[in-house]
Amino acid sequence: MFAQRIQHLTSSIIREILAAAQQPGVISFAGGLPAAGSFPEPDWCSLPTRLKQYGMSEGEPELREAIAAEARSKGISCDASQVLVLSGSQQGLDLASKLFIDPDSHVLVESPTYLAALQSFRLFQAKCDGVPLTANGLDIEAFEAQIRTNQPRFSYLIPSFQNPSGTCYGPAERQAVAEVLDRYELPLVEDEPYCELDYDDVPKPPICSLVKKAPWIYQGSFSKVLIPGLRVGYLIAHPVLMPHLVRLKQAADLHTNRPGQWLALEYMRSADKPQRLARLQSFYRERRDAFAAALDAEFSDIADWQVPSGGLFFWLKLKNVRDTRPLLKPALAAGVAFMPGEAFFAEENPPVGFLRLNFSHTEPELMVEGLRRLRKVLLEA
Ligand code: PMP
Repeated sequence: MFAQRIQHLTSSIIREILAAAQQPGVISFAGGLPAAGSFPEPDWCSLPTRLKQYGMSEGEPELREAIAAEARSKGISCDASQVLVLSGSQQGLDLASKLFIDPDSHVLVESPTYLAALQSFRLFQAKCDGVPLTANGLDIEAFEAQIRTNQPRFSYLIPSFQNPSGTCYGPAERQAVAEVLDRYELPLVEDEPYCELDYDDVPKPPICSLVKKAPWIYQGSFSKVLIPGLRVGYLIAHPVLMPHLVRLKQAADLHTNRPGQWLALEYMRSADKPQRLARLQSFYRERRDAFAAALDAEFSDIADWQVPSGGLFFWLKLKNVRDTRPLLKPALAAGVAFMPGEAFFAEENPPVGFLRLNFSHTEPELMVEGLRRLRKVLLEA
């Protein structure tokens, strides 16, 4: 009855865990939820009436202009004609999958990488090859070797405050990746939803601003800086890719919701945008620091980690290495949720012993208690 690809449709473990983590009394370090207290209260009454009509597939022209201007300020040479507004940046992964992947095509991903990107690429029957991350970049030799061996269709990278590892590529590492991409003219999908959630002001030149020959797609999102429920994100694409992406977007959903785009534009244009972002960064910086202190107190004898300079996650490696998936059930029973690290690896037999812990969602007063519950599970299971 179903298309063959449905055999490759995996359910996202995140969705399942999130449902369980919403039980009353559970302290959840599982999802990547922005803190609800950071959301603005839009004045929907001032929504222009014309936005009730169908809109353009590419997105609202003024929003595309504003996105292009911001991208130029980051060093990306582009204009508004290269901007496609998306129904969440997640949609960009679906469009890139449709554009590049045939059954058995290879795709290069970071190891570990964003779970829902793997879900999308696998639905289109890609073979995902993982390239190990280093402390501040990608294992560049492994990257080049994979390109030579597997001739991937594209590489998918999250260079700033990566999900799940928190890794942020340094400028030299970004340059090295750009040079390899250019050497093989390998398309890049650069996914940057966490870019603005920078707590230590680190330099982050987009890799697509450094490539000279390779085609690229750069993705951003309003989910982390505004409201995730709006489902508004965007991509900016090299001119050779853009016409295909616009048609794929048309075929998928005609266009992104216009009230959400209007709100995103209000945000982009607001005079206090820099102050708003600074407030958000300091709010999350405090939570990051509180979580780091709680980890130091509760976990320093059982795990290793690096404090992330941005984003929403700590990535822990257990000293007593073992598969963390079977720990999830006892953890939920003990009133704490986490993300088992194994789910983020492309390999069939993933490396074990990793946990992803979200620090943005939990009130600081509950962090120590949540980590104590998790520690007990780790020591007893
Ligand atoms: N890419 C990455 C790496 C993410 O972590 C997420 C959301 N957690 C997305 C894309 C999707 O974001 P959205 O669709 O909300 O813009």
